[in-house]
Amino acid sequence: MPSSQPSSLPSAPPTSAAIEARGLVKTYAVRGQKDGVRALDGLDITVPRGAVFGLLGPNGAGKSTTIKILTTLARPDEGTATVDGVDVLRHPDRVRRTIGVVAQRSGADPGATGGENLILQGRLYGLGADAPARANELLARFGLTDVAGRLVKTYSGGMQRRLDVALGLVHRPEVLFLDEPTTGLDPESRAAMWEEIARLAAEDGVTVLLTTHYLEEADRLAGRIAIVDHGRVVAEGSPDELKGALRGDVVHLELASETDPAVARSTLEDLPGLRDVLVAGDAVSARSDDGASAVPGILAALQTSGAPAASVTVARPSLDDVYLRLTGRRYSGAEELVAEGANH
Ligand code: ADP
Ligand code: MG
Repeated sequence: MPSSQPSSLPSAPPTSAAIEARGLVKTYAVRGQKDGVRALDGLDITVPRGAVFGLLGPNGAGKSTTIKILTTLARPDEGTATVDGVDVLRHPDRVRRTIGVVAQRSGADPGATGGENLILQGRLYGLGADAPARANELLARFGLTDVAGRLVKTYSGGMQRRLDVALGLVHRPEVLFLDEPTTGLDPESRAAMWEEIARLAAEDGVTVLLTTHYLEEADRLAGRIAIVDHGRVVAEGSPDELKGALRGDVVHLELASETDPAVARSTLEDLPGLRDVLVAGDAVSARSDDGASAVPGILAALQTSGAPAASVTVARPSLDDVYLRLTGRRYSGAEELVAEGANH
């Protein structure tokens, strides 16, 4: 270790992972809130090389703050992190050379063409005379050749986002950070983006860390995911591992409008073979080793106790069920809570 380094900096342990973060804490000062907002509360992640790794969490979970720290745009209050084996706090310049970053908000110049944006980015990264050729390569790769001469402000949302990713790749980074790459895109553009991202990892060996608040996106695109809640990772693994940890089936019930949820809850909690009964308004879920054969008994018991259900479905656990199990909240409910909080 070079002796010129300040000794007060905590040093990240050596690692062969593409990204490693340990104990990240970040508090933002906010006027009117004495303690500020604790965006990260001891976040740990390990991203293997060549992976598509998804940070999944509702708005406000701390995803963008994590990306900002890992891409040297913000400093944590506590914790350490390495990217491609390089400590982000000690050697931010070296980290910046090996990474590509696509921020949550587009960084492209809307008043320039797609081609001009890419060539400028290439020059900024020192490609010099090679910049136009690299721009053409990326335009072709992202299906933008036909619109290369059009101003970016005339692009569709999908075209703009593809250009954003192309801009992040100009200097051939080892590790690419994508903050909400498909938010706001229509389903078709989203599927096209998923294909591109999967190809980056599979064919080019790029490690991709992406954030998303779409359960389906994490499920379909990321080989591994970390579920983030209130600035901490509450679960990590492949989507199948996470769902597989929930044995059996999930029974979802919608209670009849006259039903008292508290009565329904105690009835279900008394039923043998049912576990993890969770009530949110008139929506109830519970788990069972064999959901289909449990349904008649469930409906009869609810009827008998005067707390009938309006509908029932049985499904294999989804990532939403994983989230519910870990946090006690429905994923969609968590988003609404954040939105309400933001209005106050
Ligand atoms: P996500 O990307 O998962 O939506 P963020 O990392 O953007 O979450 O934000 C995490 C928390 O930190 C939120 O409560 C957010 O309001 C707060 N926050 C983020 N950036 C700032 C900032 N610059 N100043 C104050 N609070 C912030
Ligand atoms: Mg964000």
